[in-house]
Amino acid sequence: MSKLSTITVHAPATVANMVCGFDVLGFAVNEPYDIMQLTLVNEPGITIHNKDNYNLPTDPDKNVAGAALQALMEELTIPVGFDLTITKQIKPGSGVGSSAASSAGAVAAANYLLGNIFSQEDLVRFAMNGEKLASGVKHADNIAPCIFGGVTLIRSIFPLDIISLTAPELFVTIVHPQIEVRTSDARSILKQQVLLKDAIRQWGNIAGLVAGLQQQDYDLIGRSLEDVLIEPVRSILIPGFDEVKQRSKTVGALGGGISGSGPSIFMLSKEKEIANSVASEMEAVYQSLHVDHHIYITTINTNGVRFLVP
Ligand code: ADP
Repeated sequence: MSKLSTITVHAPATVANMVCGFDVLGFAVNEPYDIMQLTLVNEPGITIHNKDNYNLPTDPDKNVAGAALQALMEELTIPVGFDLTITKQIKPGSGVGSSAASSAGAVAAANYLLGNIFSQEDLVRFAMNGEKLASGVKHADNIAPCIFGGVTLIRSIFPLDIISLTAPELFVTIVHPQIEVRTSDARSILKQQVLLKDAIRQWGNIAGLVAGLQQQDYDLIGRSLEDVLIEPVRSILIPGFDEVKQRSKTVGALGGGISGSGPSIFMLSKEKEIANSVASEMEAVYQSLHVDHHIYITTINTNGVRFLVP
């Protein structure tokens, strides 16, 4: 086996749903990110090595990065293979797109080594196979922002229709309380029917949020960060949720909510100082609850997967 070329990428964490946009909105952040080194080899097959302490599977059929790479390789006519080393910094199961970062990072790196033969939509399509392995369903609300960067709207998955939204500068504070919320539980407690009056309120908010982002209207963004469908049910699984939200808004946050299926909570702010104050409030809430937690103060990542060209 000979090594043909190597690339190192940073695959960013992502916040899916963005409060009112369940399964259709998501954005990428600058911190945290996974580091992945991918080498193109002339022998077909995938080998995976982990350089972290998360004990994720190295079997390519069980690691989401392997599943995503396999989907990409099925569309290649040349017999090549990949050797992947993952240094995961996004804790699996935290709700900030750990699995999506691995899947998206792997196929974006592969495409780079292959001379960019695939479109970004193709990469989303391949990476969704990783999400299917992690959660049982193909969804793109973490994958799309990880690949495209910024805020993305997934208008449709079948067929894939992804729209990159422009957004003003926003600071993001994320708290990851170290409790376990299983994605399957977070999905199974959701109601399968909604009332028309709730649906009207929800799509009003989604449209308001998209318009607010495009028009850089921070007040409109804040008013639209309301979820009447999912949050009232899911937030029960996250101790301290209501307090974090209320205290964050008191110190000036525009709003926020559950990141993905949780347990992480994110808040958006117009200024860095407010984002710092939000972090202090989050800290105080989880200290008083005696729950271990990790906080990130970051910004929206507008580039998606970053290539560290040697
Ligand atoms: P998140 O919402 O943070 O992405 P998920 O619960 O959706 O977390 O995905 C994590 C699940 O995917 C875990 O069960 C984990 O074992 C599995 N998994 C397999 N490979 C990977 C990988 N390379 N990175 C992250 N999670 C992986």
